[in-house]
Amino acid sequence: QAKREGRSRFRFYSASLSNEAQVLLDLGEGLREALQRDEFVLLYQPQAELRSGRVVGVEALLRWRRNGTDMMMPDRFVPYAEETGFINAIGDWVLQEACHRAAHWLRIGLPELGMAVNLSPRQFAGPHLFEHVSDALGASGLPPHLLELEITEGSLLQHGAAVSSTLASLRGLGLSLAIDDFGTGYSSLAYLNQFPIQVLKIDRSFLSGLPDDPRAVSLTSTIVAMGRNMNMRVLAEGVENLAQWNFLRDLGCHGAQGWYVGPPMTAEVFEAWMATNPVFPPPGDPSSG
Ligand code: C2E
Ligand code: MG
Ligand code: MG
Ligand code: MG
Repeated sequence: QAKREGRSRFRFYSASLSNEAQVLLDLGEGLREALQRDEFVLLYQPQAELRSGRVVGVEALLRWRRNGTDMMMPDRFVPYAEETGFINAIGDWVLQEACHRAAHWLRIGLPELGMAVNLSPRQFAGPHLFEHVSDALGASGLPPHLLELEITEGSLLQHGAAVSSTLASLRGLGLSLAIDDFGTGYSSLAYLNQFPIQVLKIDRSFLSGLPDDPRAVSLTSTIVAMGRNMNMRVLAEGVENLAQWNFLRDLGCHGAQGWYVGPPMTAEVFEAWMATNPVFPPPGDPSSG
């Protein structure tokens, strides 16, 4: 009853709201119920090792199948979920789902795959993160070394001293930590060096200029070289073609993720795809050197 009244009040006022405010109210209404209605879906995008060409992991990417129809992209609701705090509950679901999926894949005999999960800044700074992560590992039985948490440079810059202890306690669980979208924030590799970080993900905006634009070439070369010197694994996002793949492999970059390797896929599609033993570049590709 109260809910029904809430809805009609909402409609009454909505006539006078700006379009943008209307969109936000709709999002809030929807997000409140999306978890109960089981409307979130994770897609999995493969990550390949450049040296061997083998698939060694996936990144879990969130979609919202709102009202059972359209697949809403995270850029359209994650910022709002972050602002309102819904992200904590959603992020907990993501952790549980991703860990269970990865553990399932191990059990059915897929090659060992790392599972990368995105953490938003608010989730990273929240009081329940450690508990949520250790619960997800414990409940799924996923070996911790297969879980990788992706945080942004922004998360590290925000909260000073608390950041180091959060990172240290997560590392203590045996998982690995990655910096997502590296190069888009304001932190330097020297700054990152003080934190226990194992993986650097080069933002895909740097990839579009490869291998032809000299500026993109020098930036990526520098990031790969410095990352390697700091004993980090470096992975490039947004790898879309063989020329980029070859360039990154020759630089000594460790991993690649992007449409060239494979798009984000549902769990079922990913399993079928893995059954074809994908390797990069595909054998017989005439342009592969
Ligand atoms: P991200 O973590 O940097 O994820 C990579 C994005 O690049 C994904 O977009 C992916 O679909 C896209 N992409 C992959 N390969 C290529 C390529 O070859 N070319 C191009 N142009 N794009 C490519 P998506 O799935 O729309 O995700 C956008 C962002 O949403 C993610 O960026 C991440 O920051 C956030 N996000 C996704 N899932 C979650 C989640 O579960 N929790 C949180 N907090 N954030 C999430
Ligand atoms: Mg990511
Ligand atoms: Mg990224
Ligand atoms: Mg991104």
